[in-house]
Amino acid sequence: MSTSDTKICPYCDEEIRAAAKKCRHCGEMLDDEPVSRPRKKKQTHGTVDRMLIPVGRPLSAIAAGYCALFGIIPMCGLPFSIAALVCGIVALKAIKKDPDLSGSGRAWFGVILGGLMTAISLIALVMVLIVGATQPNRRF
Ligand SMILES: [Zn+2]
Repeated sequence: MSTSDTKICPYCDEEIRAAAKKCRHCGEMLDDEPVSRPRKKKQTHGTVDRMLIPVGRPLSAIAAGYCALFGIIPMCGLPFSIAALVCGIVALKAIKKDPDLSGSGRAWFGVILGGLMTAISLIALVMVLIVGATQPNRRF
């Protein structure tokens, strides 16, 4: 029964304790997994994500970048700015979940510029409404 808590060292074929981290005969470190085994853990997770997100860069990051640019257009840019902000946040979340993804620059660009332009557009909209309300004779 003593064999149940012993194992054979893969380096020197001596019998050692099963829980041993290091062989007492040859001094080799013993991991549970053989060192030579290839590490490809990344492949198993996120195959669906890979289909949705091509070439390691979230589409949302690309969308955030373009929407932020369109958001600069005066008067009609507000929907794009909001889209840039939302896409940027989605992209940053995706990148945080999978650090292999690139495009965080675009995502931040979308969040910052989109958020800024959204704020400016909303302020402008509120100003127009206030001016329109306080000056009923003016036609907009
Ligand atoms: Zn050994």
